[in-house]
Amino acid sequence: MRIVGIEGTAWAASAALFDTATDEVFIESDPYEPDSGGIHPREAAEHMGDAIPAVVSTVLDHAVETAEGDSPEIDGVAFSRGPGLGPCLRIVGTAARSLAQTLDVPLVGVNHMVAHLEIGRYQSGFDSPVCLNASGANAHLLGYHNGRYRVLGETMDTGVGNAIDKFTRHVGWTHPGGPKVERAAKDGEYHDLPYVVKGMDFSFSGIMSAAKQASDDGVPVEDVCCGLQETIFAMLTEVAERALSLTGTDELVLGGGVGQNARLREMLSEMCDQRGADFYAPEPRFLRDNAGMIAVLGARMLAAGDVLPISDSAVNPNYRPDQVPVTWRDDEES
Ligand code: ATP
Repeated sequence: MRIVGIEGTAWAASAALFDTATDEVFIESDPYEPDSGGIHPREAAEHMGDAIPAVVSTVLDHAVETAEGDSPEIDGVAFSRGPGLGPCLRIVGTAARSLAQTLDVPLVGVNHMVAHLEIGRYQSGFDSPVCLNASGANAHLLGYHNGRYRVLGETMDTGVGNAIDKFTRHVGWTHPGGPKVERAAKDGEYHDLPYVVKGMDFSFSGIMSAAKQASDDGVPVEDVCCGLQETIFAMLTEVAERALSLTGTDELVLGGGVGQNARLREMLSEMCDQRGADFYAPEPRFLRDNAGMIAVLGARMLAAGDVLPISDSAVNPNYRPDQVPVTWRDDEES
């Protein structure tokens, strides 16, 4: 089976071709990079309008080049249905519907956060892992039970990447801030910041205010970055460990753009080692937003017959992972 995925929930205009026969995932992405400030929804949508046709066209060319015959030999079109920025999602939805109708193939609507989880589960070969999704707009732990991915714990305010980006905007750094914090933290000493975990949930807003204040008070920015990483990632590691303990699972996968951070991966890996659990983090191109993960989950959904009629394919900016009936797993995987 060969399936095209299209992604565009926020900043990455991305298309991919996944071929189940070869396991090859070809991805073409074009990021939106704001000149200043954070992601502006209207500008991001304008970027999608400009960039989606080009990335889809590159993927279709690749499909033709790798096909046995003259046609692109595509069996379905999968797209990110949500969660994400409404103006961006609507452009991606329109592109996916048009392409599916043009090629006369089924349309598959993929939940972006479940795709962050499933790419790790698919690549690791784990049966039923807990997933820590540490992305820009989200931060949560997912575990499978009885036909759905349940949200075991989540942020009570902003997503983890967005929280970090708010701090970096405050100190005048361009978006995205996460990689800059990672670099600066290497030269910093730990600076104490509030640690907020409540059961399985956690909060970043107090830490961000304290980090901004510390920087305004003259604490070296490298020290604040070091404190930010150590505090936020320790919180995520604590709740990930609690989720493993609660579910009795010994497999953890990481998802989302913040998962590109080496210090976060190190802390999670150490925690898993200490409790005898297995840990898997996908390579960076599958952690940040990308259409490869949409195509891979789309293929599994298509194989399970989980397709969307065009008339019922509206996007959902608030699409939660626990709203998705999981049609593509065997029952014994519960
Ligand atoms: P979502 O997947 O929830 O829609 P998103 O669209 O913002 O979120 P992602 O690509 O998952 O996108 O993550 C982007 C975030 O990852 C940004 O906030 C960015 O600062 C952060 N990030 C990228 N690289 C790093 C890094 N090395 N360390 C920490 N954070 C990082």
